Amino acid sequence: MSQKMSIPKSFSGLKVLTAGIPLSTPQPQTMMKGIDRVLELSLDGIEVEFVHGVRTKDEELLRFGKYGKEKGIVFTAHAPYYINLNAKEKEKYEKSKEHIIKSLLAAEKIGAWSVVFHPAFYLGDDSKRVMERVIKAIEEINSYLESISFSFSVWLRPETMGKPTQFGSLEEIVEVSKHFPNVLPCIDFAHLYARSIGGYNTEKEIFGIFEYIGNELGEFALKNMHMHISGMEYGSKGEKYHVTFEESQFHYEYVIKAIKYFGVEGVIVSESSNVEYDGIIIKNYYTKLGE
Ligand SMILES: [Zn+2]
Repeated sequence: MSQKMSIPKSFSGLKVLTAGIPLSTPQPQTMMKGIDRVLELSLDGIEVEFVHGVRTKDEELLRFGKYGKEKGIVFTAHAPYYINLNAKEKEKYEKSKEHIIKSLLAAEKIGAWSVVFHPAFYLGDDSKRVMERVIKAIEEINSYLESISFSFSVWLRPETMGKPTQFGSLEEIVEVSKHFPNVLPCIDFAHLYARSIGGYNTEKEIFGIFEYIGNELGEFALKNMHMHISGMEYGSKGEKYHVTFEESQFHYEYVIKAIKYFGVEGVIVSESSNVEYDGIIIKNYYTKLGE
């Protein structure tokens, strides 16, 4: 494994974030009001959604970052959905890399800790072939970032994906992470559950995810985790849509138990259909286990 960069973490323990600003942010909803709402709810931060493209102006990003820092909020970011590092057309492949680069530059302005992205679709290729292309793409992204003297103050996080047609098993994401000092996984538990058609849902299976990461990437990875969690509706083709914990058979409580057991630090982003409601459930359960 390549030596990991020590990208600064401005917090210790576990921080609970909402995916985007809370739904209950007063109208007209803005990022600033979203930050205030997160604080009112006693949550810890926001995963800024660039999922439909990075369109926010630099001055705005700097303004969010400054306000968030003043308020002690943790930021992460989610890159656009339109990424496929296994795209066959050169233009799509280049665009995919550009989405990641733009997300990293925007995240740097906000002072975000990580950028999450969906790496690729298999498109009929085997895992090994897609792995090679994803690794090559990240090599190209990193050399571009070096050429513009990027600060490398933001983790790049390929995410475990919810459909078997998507590159992004636990093993694949951990393997990609081994190749780069600035890459660590984003573990989306609901995606692993849907991808495996209901697997990764017993206490043993969920504890096994953390054990695997510790064994393969070391203790450092467990102290710098980025996780996504939600309820999930799935079918024979994997992920269908995100629901609340209450509406799902997914055992989120084992995830929180494992986080406590392994002394995991980092961020957990609530991606439920009611982001703040389930975020509060996570936060309360984590606090309760600490007593
Ligand atoms: Zn995602």
